[in-house]
Amino acid sequence: MDKLAYIGLGSNIELRKQYLDDAIEQLKAHEAIKVTKISSIYETPPVGYLEQGPFLNMVLELETSLKNIELLKVCQAIERSLDRKRTIENGPRTIDLDILMYNHEYRELEELILPHPRMKERAFVLVPLNEIAPERVMPTSGKTMEELLLDLPAKEKDAIVLWKEG
Ligand code: AMP
Repeated sequence: MDKLAYIGLGSNIELRKQYLDDAIEQLKAHEAIKVTKISSIYETPPVGYLEQGPFLNMVLELETSLKNIELLKVCQAIERSLDRKRTIENGPRTIDLDILMYNHEYRELEELILPHPRMKERAFVLVPLNEIAPERVMPTSGKTMEELLLDLPAKEKDAIVLWKEG
């Protein structure tokens, strides 16, 4: 388990919390993956396509012996197993798993871009990332999660609210 990766999870179809839990359980059950940190869950407004319900978002840190593409395949298999359907771009989804960072890699493959190209603009990614890995440096920007978060407008950060069950 010599690679360190960060995965972003999101869901905006009920039961949202159940989909997040199921995805975490599937990652934990994988023999080549060890989940090492789990952020809090945040409730966040939709971005892009606005006619949909709010998301629950969170971030995981994991150690893995999988190669980057193998980890992507595992994430996509989890999405499929949890009924993810791709209908509207940026539209409602039971579960979304994005590889945010994989070690210190900078890659642009056809199916995988590392680090995730939009992570530094997304408060719903940076707020939970800053919670579990404030000192981690994003390979392309050379900035820590803490610094990237400082660069975002307060209005966007204020929209990311800690979520409590019930
Ligand atoms: P989405 O519909 O937002 O889940 O996007 C999934 C598509 O993004 C897939 O076709 C992936 O191959 C591609 N992709 C590119 N970079 C990444 C990444 N870092 N993590 C997850 N998916 C990625």
